[in-house]
Parts: sequence; C-alpha cells; structure tokens
Amino acid sequence: NNFLEKKDPEISSIIFQERNRQEYSIELIASENVASAAVMEAAGSILTNKYAEGYSGKRYYGGCEFIDKIEDLAIERVKKLFGAKYANVQPHSGSQANQTVFMATLQPGDKILSMSLNCGGHLTHGHIANQSGKWFKVKHYGVDDNGLINFDEVQKLALEFKPKMIIAGASAYSRKIDFVHFREIANSVNAYLLADIAHYAGLIVTENYPNPMPHAHFVTSTTHKTLRGPRGGIILTNDQDLAKKIDTALFPGIQGGPLMHIIAAKAVAFYEAMQPNFKKYIDNVVQAAKKMSEIIQKRGYKIVSHGTDSHLMIVNLQNTEITGLLAEKVLDIFGITCNKNSVPHDRAGPTITSGLRIGSPTMISRKFDLQSIEIVSHMICDVLDLCQNIIKVVISKSNNIFSSSERLTKSEIEIQLEI
Ligand code: PLP
Repeated sequence: NNFLEKKDPEISSIIFQERNRQEYSIELIASENVASAAVMEAAGSILTNKYAEGYSGKRYYGGCEFIDKIEDLAIERVKKLFGAKYANVQPHSGSQANQTVFMATLQPGDKILSMSLNCGGHLTHGHIANQSGKWFKVKHYGVDDNGLINFDEVQKLALEFKPKMIIAGASAYSRKIDFVHFREIANSVNAYLLADIAHYAGLIVTENYPNPMPHAHFVTSTTHKTLRGPRGGIILTNDQDLAKKIDTALFPGIQGGPLMHIIAAKAVAFYEAMQPNFKKYIDNVVQAAKKMSEIIQKRGYKIVSHGTDSHLMIVNLQNTEITGLLAEKVLDIFGITCNKNSVPHDRAGPTITSGLRIGSPTMISRKFDLQSIEIVSHMICDVLDLCQNIIKVVISKSNNIFSSSERLTKSEIEIQLEI
C-alpha cells in the first residue's frame, strides 16, 4: 500500500535497507528467526490501537470482548503446546517474564543460584549489570572441562548458599539440560526452580529437547527464537497459587497494558508450532546444527562441549590467533551474521570474547538444505583461517620491529587494524 513510504520516506527506506540485509546475508544469530507472514500480519494489525489492562473478563477498559477472545485462545494454545496448566502470555519480553517470576516470589536481598554468563547463562539470571544482580544475592554455577553442567557443583553450591530460587536455562548452552536433576537439587534446599527455555522452546514443543514443565515451578520463555513467533515472552506453571502470584506480579506489578497485537501474533505462532511441518522444521534445525559443528571441528576449530544437541553451538577460539570480536566483524564483511560470545572461563572481556555463537534456525526457516549448510560451514572456517593468517603475519612483523615489552597483544592488533 506504500502508506509508510509516502508518509515517512526516511524510516521506510531504512526498513527497506534492513529487509535487504536480512535477505542477502546469511543469518546465524542463534536467537533470531524469521516469523511467518501470518505472524507479522497479526503483529502489524489494528490490535495495536487497543488498551486492555487486566486479564480476560477482568479488564480496566471497555470494548475488550474481542481482545478477551484473542488472549484466551493464545493461553489455551500455549498450555496445550507445553502441557502446562496455567499460562500468562502478556510479558513484553523474555526479560520481563523472568522479572515477573522474581517479583512474584523473591524479596530484595533473597538468593538466586544460576548459570554464569560466560558458561552460557543470561543477563537476567543475576548478572551484576542487570536488575536481578543488583537486587538479589547471586551465586553462579558453571560447566566442567567438557563444557557440561556440573551437577555436583550445583548441588554443593545449593547446600552452601541455600538459594530461594535456582535457575536452569541458558542463552549459550548447546546440550540438553537435565531438569529432573535440577528439581531434585531445588527440593533438597526448598528452593523454587525456574526453567528459562527462551532458546529451546521450539525444540521442546517437538520433543527434540526435554520439557521442564513437569519439573519446574515456573517456566519462562521468549516467543521469537526457535518458536518463530513475534518478539515477546510467556510464563507457564502447573500450580494454581503460583499462577495467581504471576498474574498480579505482571499486572499491575511490572507492566501496564498488554500488547494485544503481539499476543494475537503469539497465538498464530502457537498454532503454527502445533502443525506437523513445524516438527520437520525443528528436526532440520537440529540436524543442521550437528552437521555444522562436525564440519567446523573437522576444520580444526574447537566447539564447546565438542558438539551440540540443539540449534546452536559455541566455537571456542581460545587457542587461535583471533578473538570473537574480530571473527564477528570479519564474517560480517563476508555477509555472514553471527555474534561474538564468551566461552567458559573466558579471559577476554564480554566486549571482546574468545568465542562465536552460531545457530541454524534462521537458515532452515529460509529453506537452506543440508548441502547449503555444509557450504556455509566451510565459508565460516575459510574466513576464520583468513583472519588467523592475517593476524599471524602482523604479529611476526611486530615481533621484528618491537622489543618484547612493546609488543602488541592480539586484541590490540585487532584494534590497531580498526576491525
Ligand atoms: N532468557 C534467555 C535464556 C535468553 O536467551 C533471552 C534473550 O536472549 C532472554 C531471557 C531475554 O529475552 P528478551 O530479549 O526478549 O528480553
């Protein structure tokens, strides 16, 4: 219809450029996906005009009869999808879903035990830069030398620290999480178990990944990653009292009016995830990630935990000449988009890092076949090889010119090269 182009050509042209970027680059960011046209139509619908504070049947605004039907449908569908008794589909994001669970159960100063950021955890799981890390006392568990969650460590920390909440879930952990074991540990110290499945939600729906629903007190998720919906969050529980606490913690505790256009789009995504072709989609996502991790390892690069059970993997660049920052920047020049990522026990800071996170969901949504996946994997390694060779040459030249105390570190060289 060109409404936007006529009214605001500036924004319209930037959206056009971003559309081209998405179409012509190879997207490997593990947390991104391509929502269907139906999901985007709902997200861009007239529902954005409606205020609907409150919940179905108990709104603070009139004219909510159709809004109620949409929210009811979204709730019914997501409950069915994950086997949950109660659902709240109003969180504007995954972060707000987590914040809501904290608001419902914790007081400032209470204790949380969660995975550390550099082992794969998320900022909202108690990182010091996040509200969760400022308001709560936090201890982190990590992974062992094989890159796997160390349950002995989790149990030991739980007994020593006595947290009120344990969080299982991650943004950069490629293996299956044993939610049963986490619940046993939570029970042993009388803690709540929160499973944050933001990354794995799509894989859980299709039974390619363990479902925490029977084990966790709360399950939170985003809807825009492997679930392929609009940007947003959800909270699930099987406990009626906890469900009530969640509802009041979210509204009026944290949010105001729900984004009804997004809730409609979530409902569409839930419907799509119930269809048989979604299972095929996720099977391909998992198969592609496995293939990529095999090729990358064969080409001499390390993968944290030596592989993947999911849609993502972390390339460990610690023993190479390059940092995550350099790899991300140079891959971008070659039209491959992914993100630098810390690796377990990373000595480089979070703005540099020693790793790369790679995910397959967007490629499969864009119908890349296995042969294309193989080609992309080799392209990545070719670019990494190229980076290493350039850095090696610069290092050897600088070694000839500078005395050892003046020599540049790898990341200083990268900065000097203005990459
Ligand atoms: N939890 C996990 C495990 C995540 O990976 C993310 C996002 O990357 C979030 C929560 C936060 O989601 P959002 O970006 O929607 O706030």
